[in-house]
Amino acid sequence: MDRYDLIVIGSGAGLNVIFAAVEHGLKVALVEQGPLGGTCLNNGCIPSKMLIYPADVLRSAQNARILGLEVSVDRVDFRKIMSRMHSFVEQNRQSLEEAVAGNPSVTLYRSRAEFIGEYALRTGDRTLTAPQIVIASGARPLVPAIPGLKEAGYLDNISLLDLEEPPQSLIVIGAGYIGCEYGHFFSAMGTEVTLLGRSPSVLSDEEPEVSQIVEKVLARQMRVITNHEVVGIEREGGEKVVSARNRLDNKVYTFEAQEILLAVGRRSNADILKPEMTGVQTDEHGWIKVDEFLQTTKKDIWALGDAIGKHMFRHTANYEAQVVFHNLLHAERRDERIKADFHAVPNAVFSNPQVGAVGMKESEALAAGRRILVGRAKYTDVAKGVAMAEENGFVKVIIEEEGGKILGCSIAGSMAPELVQQVVYLMNAERQDLEPLIGSQVIHPSLSEVIVKAFSNLEHPYHAAEE
Ligand SMILES: Cc1cc2nc3c(=O)[nH]c(=O)nc-3n(C[C@H](O)[C@H](O)[C@H](O)COP(=O)(O)OP(=O)(O)OC[C@H]3O[C@@H](n4cnc5c(N)ncnc54)[C@H](O)[C@@H]3O)c2cc1C
Repeated sequence: MDRYDLIVIGSGAGLNVIFAAVEHGLKVALVEQGPLGGTCLNNGCIPSKMLIYPADVLRSAQNARILGLEVSVDRVDFRKIMSRMHSFVEQNRQSLEEAVAGNPSVTLYRSRAEFIGEYALRTGDRTLTAPQIVIASGARPLVPAIPGLKEAGYLDNISLLDLEEPPQSLIVIGAGYIGCEYGHFFSAMGTEVTLLGRSPSVLSDEEPEVSQIVEKVLARQMRVITNHEVVGIEREGGEKVVSARNRLDNKVYTFEAQEILLAVGRRSNADILKPEMTGVQTDEHGWIKVDEFLQTTKKDIWALGDAIGKHMFRHTANYEAQVVFHNLLHAERRDERIKADFHAVPNAVFSNPQVGAVGMKESEALAAGRRILVGRAKYTDVAKGVAMAEENGFVKVIIEEEGGKILGCSIAGSMAPELVQQVVYLMNAERQDLEPLIGSQVIHPSLSEVIVKAFSNLEHPYHAAEE
């Protein structure tokens, strides 16, 4: 039995815990079945954004006509776009390999781990134990039981990174953030894209106004079909034929394309890990259950990131890694442990248009019984938005009527992920209200003014709805 102070399973945000533990002089084991860096580096945030940025530039060039610029893109060098992405990922992976290999306090086990008993794991032919264990085992693509899917073959966020040419036509199954982001990428690369979603709108977790804007703009670049449930897939000649039931008229329609991209969600990796063998419980979907300190149902076994299935973003996993590390160091001093705070979790969608959001949606705030004020503004309400011809750009903010605490903000349009970060900071300031914004000079003319504008248009939700 190999004994450590701490074992971490998963080298995504799990690596943050490893590096912090080493700084504190702990002897640690890292178990990783795949490449170092996890989803974000190898097949999530980083590669997707390396690919999407050229798509953004291409769309900006094409849209510049409205500004009086006739720009033409002569050629898309798909291989170069892909190789630029691969080399950045490879460089980062290499740095992580070196950082881990060069640290004598870390032992890396390069195979799949599974719990075999109390605080005990098997990986390869080794058995490991530690008094503290961190589960950072992430998630993988959800593959629904659609008849014919496996036989027809499909791309997912991992296999699409190996493409050497863009497909001529592509059906993206799933209109969540991964579907919208890659739909944007492939359509900019010249692929004829059909985005096929089951919900009544694309990005159904976002504010309805935001989803509508994204849907309207995406529909100029691709075919957008919502409210359709895929019921079967067949291969016909060189084409893949997707049958989907329209949830409104209950009829089945078919869609054909050269390739399919599956983007219907993520599932837990806990089935591989068998956490129940050490007394760690999962919920009905397989996500690891944790308390507010991110401790699992077993003392001194902690979980973070996608493994807990809550806010599945890398920045949230990084934050949770800080909470977990603090709490495992203070495991015996309960009053010094910290609770994970999720009141201002931001998220972004790097589609065209972009989306940035934080905190509550209007419907969530109302459902929670909050008395709220809602403010809206268009990018074109401010000079910079007009200069940029951002006719669809939109900001919505929600504050608590009494006390003015900011509850949430949602933005659709250029720079939305950067803009929303301003509200994230406000929501993490001591009073979480508008005070820092009201007392600040705002650069004129800048898009930041649209945030101020939204906060100056506050009204009761029913007024807003009547507009
Ligand atoms: C296409 C795509 C785009 C994304 N874009 C963004 C974005 O722009 N911004 C953002 O914030 N988030 C984005 N995400 C989400 C983000 O990638 C994840 O939230 C984040 O990577 C989760 O980190 P993690 O450490 O929890 O898990 P992971 O990074 O998935 O790490 C888990 C690791 O555990 C290993 N593992 C699992 N089980 C075992 C086992 N039994 N034994 C050994 N090893 C095991 C896995 O191999 C993996 O390396 C994206 C995701 C995808 C798929």
